[in-house]
Amino acid sequence: MARLALLSTSNKTGLIDLARSLVEEFEFDIISSGGTATVLKEAGIPVTKVAEYTGSPEILGGRVKTLHPRIHGGILARRDVPQDLTDLNENQIRAIDLVVVNLYPFEETIAKPGVTLTDAIEQIDIGGPALLRASAKNHAHLTVLCDPEQYNTYLAEMRQNGGEASLKFRQRCALETFKHTANYDRAIASYLSSQSAEESVLPEQFNLSGKELQTLRYGENPHQAATWYQSGSIPTGWTTSTILQGKELSYNNLVDLEAARRLIVEFPDTPAAAILKHTNPCGTALGKTISEAYQKAFDTDSVSAFGGIVALNRPIDAATATALTQTFLECIVAPGCEQEAEEIIKKKAKVRVLILPDLTQGPPQTVKIIAGGLLVQESDNIVEETSKWRTVTEKQPTAGELEELLFAWKVAKHVKSNAIVVTRDRTTIGVGAGQMNRVGSVKLALEQAAEKSKGAILASDGFFPFDDSVKTAAEAGIIAIVQPGGSMRDRDSIEAANQLGITMVFTDIRHFLH
Ligand code: 5GP
Repeated sequence: MARLALLSTSNKTGLIDLARSLVEEFEFDIISSGGTATVLKEAGIPVTKVAEYTGSPEILGGRVKTLHPRIHGGILARRDVPQDLTDLNENQIRAIDLVVVNLYPFEETIAKPGVTLTDAIEQIDIGGPALLRASAKNHAHLTVLCDPEQYNTYLAEMRQNGGEASLKFRQRCALETFKHTANYDRAIASYLSSQSAEESVLPEQFNLSGKELQTLRYGENPHQAATWYQSGSIPTGWTTSTILQGKELSYNNLVDLEAARRLIVEFPDTPAAAILKHTNPCGTALGKTISEAYQKAFDTDSVSAFGGIVALNRPIDAATATALTQTFLECIVAPGCEQEAEEIIKKKAKVRVLILPDLTQGPPQTVKIIAGGLLVQESDNIVEETSKWRTVTEKQPTAGELEELLFAWKVAKHVKSNAIVVTRDRTTIGVGAGQMNRVGSVKLALEQAAEKSKGAILASDGFFPFDDSVKTAAEAGIIAIVQPGGSMRDRDSIEAANQLGITMVFTDIRHFLH
């Protein structure tokens, strides 16, 4: 007797071609749920409706279509257990050899604006996951496909393997299927938890059983294995980037690129460039053009820029491309690249160039893994508003100084704590990152700024616990400081600033980055 395939698909992509090959090439009989059967019939492919096969009509507006012992018995029967075969016989059940299902588009539905809870609930597929899970459980005896992308691989396997799918292939399909149904249920749980204030489940985008995108050569160090996964089932962020050229991306590249992306999106209104090393910016600048911004960011610390990661918030033009090829860089990301610029950068064939059209698409949360748990927090996406800042010194900042302070403050937010950033002319001239005491970071930043610190401004991601930072800054010629405030000894810092003739503003917000 011909083998039996059950096809029940929400996404009908590739369905007709698959069904035609199943019937014509491999002599399958096909049974299908209502909508799928209609599509196949219209294409002239012989098909029996599940309702006809089981003798039970689809009911409850489609909530019950395939939930029937003649279907699930045919899937779950072990072909090597005599009692199972007897059960099939006595109940006129045919064993099913192939199950092809894809589920109601739950995630697409909840992504639509204005979707109601009722709409969402109706898009929770019940019979589909039951078919998939039953088939995957019994993969020793049948094949299950849950994604149109698998159809051609399946047909190729059948052709290569004398009309059978090998056990190895069926195992792989079963694993894909369980990942798929797990993701599906996680998306539902995540959505329902977002609808209720009491319950909280791990946000869906942290689902690490998501699609594997790439095995990376190694992790932070060569002895650490590493893999890049897509979080969630809809591609966003870096998953949507195109790689124009260059060597394979590494783990450290991706970590640095993300840090660069987060920094550069702080400046949507002006051409901006940032050069990062080990997630810290060694040069960040705004310019009238993107090439001017890049040149300023590069010139401020050309030593550190060597081997850097560059993020630009405007498409790469020819002038910028020429400047980019003057030094060794690891990666460049921009929202676009002009044709002429592409030709210029090609000369540095190894540098990785990524186009990320929407740099602003960042994760709403960040996660850290600790022993026995995950720490999930909202991303530091607060909108900076100078109107909410407080000047705490006698001296008030000018409008120009306030703009410069805002620039420095936004950069400081993306420097590892303790972070001190010294700037002038919308360019970082000194960056003190990751020191264990604040005045240490101040000294580092000022040492780098050297002579240029006269008349410059300074931003600190956290408050000053003592007045030593203010005094050190004043000695170097800093004229204005922005910091969160909130220390027990704020008074000391304010008095020092007043005595030394420095302007100081408090943001009442801090930006630790660990
Ligand atoms: P069709 O378009 O063929 O009528 O329906 C196909 C969809 O129905 C597939 O997404 C499949 O997962 C789903 N499905 C199959 N059987 C059942 C069932 O018994 N109940 C529900 N709710 N969905 C089912």
